[in-house]
Amino acid sequence: MVSVTHVAGSPAAPASPGSSQLLPVLRERGQREVFCGLTGIVWLHRKIQDAFFLVVGSRTCAHLIQSAAGVMIFAEPRFATAILEEKDLAGLSDANEELDRAVARLLARRPDIKLLFLVGSCPSEVIKLDLARAAARLSAAVGPAVRVLSYSGSGIETTFTQGEDACLASMVPVLPSETPTHKESLLVVGALPDVVEDQFQRIFLELGIPVAFFPPRRSHELPAVGPRTSYLLAQPFLAATGQALDERGARRLMAPFPFGVEGTRGWLEAAVQSFGVSSSRLGAVVAGAEERARVSLTKARQRLAGKRIFFFPDSQLEVPLARFLARELSMEVLEVGTPYLHQDHLSVELALLPKTATLSEGQDVERQLDRCRHHKPDLVVCGLGLANPLEMEGFSTKWSIELVFTPIHGYEQAGDLAELFARPLVRRERLRV
Ligand code: SF4
Repeated sequence: MVSVTHVAGSPAAPASPGSSQLLPVLRERGQREVFCGLTGIVWLHRKIQDAFFLVVGSRTCAHLIQSAAGVMIFAEPRFATAILEEKDLAGLSDANEELDRAVARLLARRPDIKLLFLVGSCPSEVIKLDLARAAARLSAAVGPAVRVLSYSGSGIETTFTQGEDACLASMVPVLPSETPTHKESLLVVGALPDVVEDQFQRIFLELGIPVAFFPPRRSHELPAVGPRTSYLLAQPFLAATGQALDERGARRLMAPFPFGVEGTRGWLEAAVQSFGVSSSRLGAVVAGAEERARVSLTKARQRLAGKRIFFFPDSQLEVPLARFLARELSMEVLEVGTPYLHQDHLSVELALLPKTATLSEGQDVERQLDRCRHHKPDLVVCGLGLANPLEMEGFSTKWSIELVFTPIHGYEQAGDLAELFARPLVRRERLRV
């Protein structure tokens, strides 16, 4: 099923949000090729260091996260799958008791766990379980030392980055409230690698802006939230988390996402404007980092300028990345496919997209493959399932999952981000030679 609507957008630089120019959105609802939200566990378990993710699912779910996590499994991983066998279908009470026993065994063996997520999945026997109620029951049973929360990573409800959104949204209700003496503060929302978080922390510190990061590295470091909290999304896939924060009275700052020099500067500008710090002060603080970032993009720009790129929908990072590649590396963007288009969160980004690009939301994979073959792009960004067949057809591909696992935010990572797109082209050239 296909439909076309329009969103505000503008092609030319410099573009501004709210431009009256319209960018058509091709909406497709058909067969799709994306990972489910369980995948988010692979980066979330590294971020929140005393959390544990217990997938309540099938052997398929266990295989998925084992293979997605691959080499990252250590002797004591912080995720596991409680497999509900078919026999549990006989009665929900059996399944609940089985889950309670699995949790009790886990917590007895792992006293380091302070936050336990029950993660729902697709099998019908799991869907019938009320995991929110199970989390409340288990929280009461295990006492204050461990908090038990739940969210869904099911492939029916989530694509792969939505797992993080569902996880963070489940934490928002347990964030503490602001105290009466709470000063205006900034919350950066979205899991970032520690190294990137440290870089942003230093910048905000120099600017005199009090900042906290969500999710925190330790589960007891939950930031307070309320009407004196402004928040900046670090990831474009946090629709439910943003809504939950809005409901707690926090205020979202309109900004592009911090990819590349332009996106990072715009993101920081939104913060300084809100906290009454001048743009010239920001300019002075980030001058060195911006210069390094510009230099780091030079080599990749030589390879990428004029090259044509096609995005299949996968990570929801597609819109800001397409903006970065078009405006800072002079790539020609053919199609920007995204699983969901959150027009409010992406309003600044959409205004910066080139008007020659096709913007598509959702997926009808066969039709999209036809469009891709018709365009013959130099580079295709897609999920693992499509990458191999497309490589066999002679296309250069970039796995979108790599963009989620690699530090790509901020000035210091801009060069690495550009290189991620240059590398497949270099590899194919070498193969030709
Ligand atoms: Fe499990 Fe469903 Fe994800 Fe498959 S799509 S791994 S069944 S949650």
